[in-house]
Amino acid sequence: MGAQVPTTDAQRVLDRCDDLAAVSATPDGVERVHLSPEHARVNAVVAGWMAELGLDTRVDQAGNLWGRVEGQEPGLPALVLGSHLDTVPDAGRYDGILGVLSALEVVRRLAPRAAELPFALEAVAFSDEEGTRFSTALMGSSAVAGAWREEWWDRTDAAGTTVRQAAEAFGLDPARIGEAARRPEELLGYLELHIEQGPHLEAADRALGVVTSIAGARRFTGRVVGEARHAGGTPYPRRRDALVGASEVVLAVERLAKERDGIATVGRLQAFPGGVNVVPGLVEFSLDVRDEHDADRDVLVEEIRAVAERACAARGLTLELTEVHSAPGVYCDEALQRSVAAGIAVTGDAEPLRLWSRAGHDAMAVAAVTPVAMVFVRCEDGVSHAPDERVTLADVAVGLDAFEAAVLDVARTHGNG
Ligand SMILES: [Zn+2]
Repeated sequence: MGAQVPTTDAQRVLDRCDDLAAVSATPDGVERVHLSPEHARVNAVVAGWMAELGLDTRVDQAGNLWGRVEGQEPGLPALVLGSHLDTVPDAGRYDGILGVLSALEVVRRLAPRAAELPFALEAVAFSDEEGTRFSTALMGSSAVAGAWREEWWDRTDAAGTTVRQAAEAFGLDPARIGEAARRPEELLGYLELHIEQGPHLEAADRALGVVTSIAGARRFTGRVVGEARHAGGTPYPRRRDALVGASEVVLAVERLAKERDGIATVGRLQAFPGGVNVVPGLVEFSLDVRDEHDADRDVLVEEIRAVAERACAARGLTLELTEVHSAPGVYCDEALQRSVAAGIAVTGDAEPLRLWSRAGHDAMAVAAVTPVAMVFVRCEDGVSHAPDERVTLADVAVGLDAFEAAVLDVARTHGNG
């Protein structure tokens, strides 16, 4: 915006993102997965930073790290600020981490005035958003929302270690997982700052945006079944080539999603038996479908299914589409969205861009227990889940100002009682 912005806090945030990357570097890049030694190390480092700010810190029974400062009086419901510290494999430095460290900077600014706030202020670092280790995302925030599932204890990582074993090795007591759940009356709301992980803010030349909703994905395992036969000996009229059929499905998925302004992706595809001289008799693939509104997403799914079935039938192939995951989308709270917009307006962007999140976030799980809202920060070229995730110092600086102003706006709207 051309205005002079203080960069000290923002520089500390960026430096600490680097620090956490260094603390959890592995031979294959930055990786911090749920209940790992890297997870314990960053929790300890961030707990130290929280303690410096005068926060009471604790790690809950799901491995989430919390810090709290009381408001006007002890025991008030908390406004929670945070994000996650876990990563995908070979990760960048900002996905999740930026939100946790920005929350700490906002607490640093407001802690001296906490006695004026009509709520307690809490910072949280969720333990498992990405689901990298146990293939189940949002374990940490789900536990906080009281939505832990007993069957998760028996999920295993690539080495065969169960969640239960990993939790015990981390020093947690699986029998006490229920203690991680927060009650709605303890909470006022949850605000999360996160990199956009997409190109929309950059394209609109905006540093920040207000998130309207977080899309819930539906995921499927698809199978196209044909017949494996000799590649040389089988003339075209006799072929039931599963890979050619699956290719038509992939193209239809892209075309239909574009037409309906949704997002659908085939991320994995494998042909069997996989011989150079064999017509593929079977293809297995994944399908991930998202949209701003669940109803539109569900229409897109049915359209994809119908078109794919027709394309396969025309080639004498059969299609099986099995749902393996379905999450409802979550709308951000209207009042908290207004506070986020008011916060961004303080930085000079009077009419902030509103956008829906195509990616999942902890706020989705937390929404089951308290109202949520999010602010997105522009990231270079929309790159995320990769080592070259980038944000600018100036964007982080206005992000902190907006985040702080949003919290003060919540205080204003709740202080008028
Ligand atoms: Zn994230």
